[in-house]
Amino acid sequence: MYQEYAWKKYKDQHMSEVTKFNEEYKSFLTKGKTERLCVREAIQLCEAAGFKNIKECTTIQAGDKVYAVNKHKNIAAFVVGEQPLSSGLAILGAHIDSPRIDLKQNPLYESDTFVYLDTHYYGGIIKYQWVTIPLAMYGVVIKKDGTTVEIQIGDDPTDPVFGITDLLPHLAAEKMQKAASKVIEGEGLDILIGSMPVEDEEKDPSKKRILNLLKEKYDISEEDFVSAEIEIVPAGSARDFGLDRSMVAGYGHDDRVCAYTSLRALLDAPKCARTICAVLVDKEEIGSVGATGASSLWFENCIAELIALAEEYSDFKVRKALTNSVMLSSDVSAGLDPLYPSVSERRNVAYLGKGICFNKYTGSRGKSGCNDAQPEFIAKLRNMMDQDNIFYQTSELGKVDQGGGGTIAYILANYNMNVIDAGVPVLSMHSPMEIVSKVDVYEAYLAYKTFLKNA
Ligand code: MN
Ligand code: MN
Repeated sequence: MYQEYAWKKYKDQHMSEVTKFNEEYKSFLTKGKTERLCVREAIQLCEAAGFKNIKECTTIQAGDKVYAVNKHKNIAAFVVGEQPLSSGLAILGAHIDSPRIDLKQNPLYESDTFVYLDTHYYGGIIKYQWVTIPLAMYGVVIKKDGTTVEIQIGDDPTDPVFGITDLLPHLAAEKMQKAASKVIEGEGLDILIGSMPVEDEEKDPSKKRILNLLKEKYDISEEDFVSAEIEIVPAGSARDFGLDRSMVAGYGHDDRVCAYTSLRALLDAPKCARTICAVLVDKEEIGSVGATGASSLWFENCIAELIALAEEYSDFKVRKALTNSVMLSSDVSAGLDPLYPSVSERRNVAYLGKGICFNKYTGSRGKSGCNDAQPEFIAKLRNMMDQDNIFYQTSELGKVDQGGGGTIAYILANYNMNVIDAGVPVLSMHSPMEIVSKVDVYEAYLAYKTFLKNA
């Protein structure tokens, strides 16, 4: 069903399946505050569903369920089909990194007995949204001997939280004259983490106490921050949003909502003729670069490994497998916000509640930098969606020339595979509290399953 509110599909008696699925999603989102933690959760879901680590496989055959992990930050799960891999896979690809605030390598300093962590934000954030809210600290510190110290502070109810202070209105007259982009600047996003000096310590007495605590509790020194990956993220759990509980508020819907629904679709998919795959990648928010981003050769190598395990290997088979594949780039869309109608064009915008949203193209200005999906491919998708009574919609990211953005779609399309963006519309995207509609989350899950079965 195209461009209709999906709630009508779920009369009250069917709401329980939507509610139940969203409860499971909220739990994933609450636990998956970093890409590493999302991968950890994904591994657990895969293993519970009988998937094996590809490292333990010496051969694979039709019906086998395997997963591969890259550097703790990517996971690809596959169900091997009857057809040879060179006939192509049906792939769901989502990203599990979300905008946030990272610590600098030399972050710790004291100022007037306050202790701060200096930061460098990650991804596109509106900086003023991140001050005066409770923040949590997640990540890893890798010590010189290779041991990993895991940090998770701020979400256990007994934990302290952290935050970024802001000026009181009484003294903000000058600040209020600034452009919104300058009100809070990148170097102003420093995290307050302490204020209690150690007695008889002359230089940086409060910092000394924090260093003592880090030593006691985690056995780390100040220099260990050099090889750390610590992310400052909003504290708190994903919650129902609205008196009618129709929405979910949480940090990191972009793009963990599509990551979770894609992975669940794969785990719950019926037997498919083709090999099916869900791949979760990192670094989308900063351009899909690096070893764990979608531009990395890792995924291509996974396909090569599958072919090598399944049959006689050839490079040509790898290329054929990729070129014959079809993919949904499972990523969120910007939902219409009635408080800001001027940025959207109402006939081509995503609405919360109208189901999964297909974006033929993203990009900016004259579609620059986008993967403009083939209409032949879209026609097949329309047919699939209608046959399974999936509620879906299409949209653009705002009015023409309003702005723009990108996803991983164009990167996989470089293999000459058919790819289109398809995901859940979001309000307040990239903010510390993003909002999605429960019915869209569930429709996305159903749509992804339909795609795996029929593509
Ligand atoms: Mn995204
Ligand atoms: Mn994003």
